[in-house]
Amino acid sequence: MNTDYDVVIVGAGPAGSTTAEHAALGGARVLVLERKKAVGEPVACGEFLPSTEEIKAIMPKADDLHPLFEVPSTLISRPMETFRIYSPRGRYWNIPFQGYTTDRDRFDKHLASKAQKAGATILTDTLVTAVQGNEVRTRNEVYRAKVIVGADGPVSRVAKGLGLPPNKVLYPAVTQQAVGDFEPVMEMHFGIAPGAYAWVLPKGKGANVGAGVSPRWAKKRAGDYFQEFVKARGLETVGRMMGKYVPSSGPISRSFTENGMLVGDAAGHVIAVNGGGIPIAMICGRLAGRAAAERVNKGTPLSRYEELCREQVYKPLRTAVHTQWLASFFFGSPRRLEFSMVVLGERRMGNILRCRPSFP
Ligand SMILES: Cc1cc2nc3c(=O)[nH]c(=O)nc-3n(C[C@H](O)[C@H](O)[C@H](O)COP(=O)(O)OP(=O)(O)OC[C@H]3O[C@@H](n4cnc5c(N)ncnc54)[C@H](O)[C@@H]3O)c2cc1C
Repeated sequence: MNTDYDVVIVGAGPAGSTTAEHAALGGARVLVLERKKAVGEPVACGEFLPSTEEIKAIMPKADDLHPLFEVPSTLISRPMETFRIYSPRGRYWNIPFQGYTTDRDRFDKHLASKAQKAGATILTDTLVTAVQGNEVRTRNEVYRAKVIVGADGPVSRVAKGLGLPPNKVLYPAVTQQAVGDFEPVMEMHFGIAPGAYAWVLPKGKGANVGAGVSPRWAKKRAGDYFQEFVKARGLETVGRMMGKYVPSSGPISRSFTENGMLVGDAAGHVIAVNGGGIPIAMICGRLAGRAAAERVNKGTPLSRYEELCREQVYKPLRTAVHTQWLASFFFGSPRRLEFSMVVLGERRMGNILRCRPSFP
């Protein structure tokens, strides 16, 4: 088997598959290594995506979004137009916001198949154990690449191998499917306990329910708060509860080396105020894929990738980190949180959701 590639990508999530697609479209020979047996399974995600118009409103400097976020209608589980934000005392505000839930396993498979159609090879059930120089090691093989991309999620082994910084702050979060009928409104519940939040995101059938915690304030684990929330709401859940980390400190300070890049969760490409990371993983994945192909074809330095990420998406991501930092003063006390949410009101909450400053 061939072990020499132009580009080896670790991880076949949205970041890895989008990087692979665009590197292959640029003419590079691309291999993706994924530790899961099947791409996208099991699901540990709220499965919500903003509409392309909302993504544009959040990241106005990002290029050419429509082709990136066009999905077959079969991947839209439930379209929705309202976020309902609940305070600790059960007050709520309806924020107009367009988006949809998907089935994240099928969504990730769709992105992987686009990468394969562009010419990338994807090997599943293949854990990368180390990255050193231009080598990517698995249990059975050593692959060599001109460019190595870490798209391996919030706790990135590739970051370590490339000598790049890790995510500084990780929020644990869990999710499970609930059965039943739900109105087409996306619920976010803040302050279900000090430092804890929960969501109910309706799908075509049932809903995705989850909870997350700020390690700074929470006294229990995300799974404990989740169980309390599910019980209090009288929800019936099915399948396994799945947990993962949400990077919450914004983009890492450096995401490239001479021969490597980090993208998606591995690079902190997540909106800190709501944990949304799929759109940014795809926007930066496309930039990483193009940069990898340009490096292979013309020797263009990979620093260009980070320059473009900074121009297109870092400002809103940094605003979200700042808002989250401000919110952290209130998040530890339900009384203070209630007060701050009343002061914010609907319009400012809409600004926060769209990564704009909450004041003025
Ligand atoms: C509970 C929860 C709910 C969320 N809800 C939403 C939401 O509703 N909307 C939204 O936009 N975002 C949401 N997010 C964030 C979103 O899931 C991530 O931002 C997104 O998945 C990032 O994509 P990625 O490709 O960077 O990483 P991932 O999707 O994590 O993909 C990384 C891949 O790398 C593989 N991998 C890791 N290490 C190795 C290795 N050593 N060798 C081989 N393969 C490896 C993993 O198996 C995985 O498939 C949520 C996160 C959590 C935890």
